[in-house]
Amino acid sequence: MTELPGRRLLLVHAHPDDESINNGATMAMYAADGAHVTLVTCTLGEEGEVIPDELEHLAPDREDLLGPHRIGELAAAMKELGVTDHRFLGGPGRYRDSGMMGAEQNRRPGAFWSADLDEAAAHLVAVIREIRPQVLVTYDPDGGYGHPDHIKAHRVAMRAADLAAEPAFRRDLGDPYTISKIYWNRVPRTTIGELFRRVEAGLDRTPFDTTATVSDVPGVVDDERVTAEIDGRPHQVRKEAAMRAHATQVSIPEGLGVFALSNGLAQPMLPIEYYELVRGEPGSAYEKDLFEGVQGIDDSNGIQGARA
Ligand SMILES: [Zn+2]
Repeated sequence: MTELPGRRLLLVHAHPDDESINNGATMAMYAADGAHVTLVTCTLGEEGEVIPDELEHLAPDREDLLGPHRIGELAAAMKELGVTDHRFLGGPGRYRDSGMMGAEQNRRPGAFWSADLDEAAAHLVAVIREIRPQVLVTYDPDGGYGHPDHIKAHRVAMRAADLAAEPAFRRDLGDPYTISKIYWNRVPRTTIGELFRRVEAGLDRTPFDTTATVSDVPGVVDDERVTAEIDGRPHQVRKEAAMRAHATQVSIPEGLGVFALSNGLAQPMLPIEYYELVRGEPGSAYEKDLFEGVQGIDDSNGIQGARA
């Protein structure tokens, strides 16, 4: 068996860029702190809209080369975050971006949305049984905002967590393993409201004309649903650089704490990232470390070791 650090974190995302926008600070923090961080991305994001004019030729209705290009963007982003273990579910290009809900691409052969759930989950079971992460991070059942690939990523992650623990399931994929804690990405409504007011007030210092709204942000919930936060402010610069590496999808001016997707609407970057624990025991009433309370971690350099 491979020697892995004591703390192991697995994140499951739909497209390249989702990981940096949602969890970039968390990933940078744990990677810097010696934990093993594994990212599984389910599609290449082939249906994304392309922001820079000079790359528009990559778009799906033109050369359809956005997927391979985004493999490179993701690799560059992971370099910024210090994450070396990043994989695509079933290998690069196994599942294709399904486009927005209701688009004809949803049902296209190979589209992630129309993939068999257990078959897709089995690819992730192999990763879970190999890495044995104590903590899994993914989206809520709505995928945060209703995108079919995000909903499917949620379903695959939750299903794989169950199947990985099932002794009778596919022993060829490794020994059964139970993940201790599962979190969904969240954003507290009050916090994001305040951040939007700040973006609004400083909008004239940004290259953007208009702001997005709270309803454009995935995973927003009433504050009391949020059970954990990772203060990634020391890693904000790395998160920003990782987001910038996804240049076809994100435009982000330096050091202003704002960014825009292809709609050009300014929204706040979140250097503190928020989570809801949905499976497993919380280490405290409001956690500041996703590994809080996890038993049997042997990692003398890590956060847990330092606190022990
Ligand atoms: Zn996405």
